[in-house]
Amino acid sequence: MKNRYKIIFVILAVLLTAALTVGCSKINTMERIKKNGQVIMGTNAAFPPFEMRQGNEIVGIDAEIAKAVADKLGVELKIEDMDFNALLSALKSGKVDFIAAGYTVSPEREEEVDFSDKYFKAVQAIIVLKDNTSIKSRQDLNGKVIGAQEGTTGAELFRENSPYKNVTLKTYNNGANAVLDLKNGRVDAVVLDNYTSMALAELNPEIKILDDPATDPEEYAIAVRKGDKELLQTINDTLKELKDSGKLDEIFKKYIPEYKAQ
Ligand code: GLN
Repeated sequence: MKNRYKIIFVILAVLLTAALTVGCSKINTMERIKKNGQVIMGTNAAFPPFEMRQGNEIVGIDAEIAKAVADKLGVELKIEDMDFNALLSALKSGKVDFIAAGYTVSPEREEEVDFSDKYFKAVQAIIVLKDNTSIKSRQDLNGKVIGAQEGTTGAELFRENSPYKNVTLKTYNNGANAVLDLKNGRVDAVVLDNYTSMALAELNPEIKILDDPATDPEEYAIAVRKGDKELLQTINDTLKELKDSGKLDEIFKKYIPEYKAQ
């Protein structure tokens, strides 16, 4: 009889511990943001003009939008800079509260995160050396060695269900390193988001961007953990206010001199 009680007690204790563990692992984002007085943005600060380093600071279009979100929440903005490829797991594990990283909305990502309203249209640009005459349009990428940033839509374009044939894909932790290998002759072309490509072309006079992009247009949005409705609503409200007041266009123009309203 005594032993039976012991066993029941142990089973109850185990069940209770399990229930508590499961309960705790669910992150209450809004509670934590308010308690810590800060909201954490995850990004890869090597993606001008959306996020880049300026001295010790991280600046750019996404940093400004994120600052407006933090202001609306009434808390500080903290920015965690990491490899682009690490962003999704950082969001899921609670290391960051949202991803703002020129982050393209895609069906695969929609299974993992909730996206805000879209705020920017982009394309995957094809970058080659200025004196290159063999790659003039997207069809010419077939059979070539292509550089792209790991984890991005540009890299995924050459993986499963790729419209391209016989491509050798080389990936890098940022676009600048891919361009470096283009200049060193280790890849034939680089595929990268168009505005970041333009920023890199300004710094690298040996490269040019083709008129023909590598694929259909994409759109950027901010990603939160699945089910984080309150934070998502605050982000969407902020985006709407920035848009309606003309502030969003001002931010775009500040970082993209040639920007025209989309
Ligand atoms: N827009 C691309 C993507 O979401 C690249 C973003 C980036 O490199 N920061 O995959």
